[in-house]
Amino acid sequence: MKCKICGEKIRTIFLNKILGTYIKDKSGKVVVVCSSCQKKLGNDREKILSEAK
Ligand SMILES: [Zn+2]
Repeated sequence: MKCKICGEKIRTIFLNKILGTYIKDKSGKVVVVCSSCQKKLGNDREKILSEAK
């Protein structure tokens, strides 16, 4: 699984938990973002979606 913003591989911890977050965009597509990008964008859902490729 790769971050949709920086392209870094996201580490999975346990039970399919990831070091990052899943966000659904308006079309229902799931966007995966690593924790550092999430932090960088202030955990702002709209900002994250607009940065995602
Ligand atoms: Zn990232």
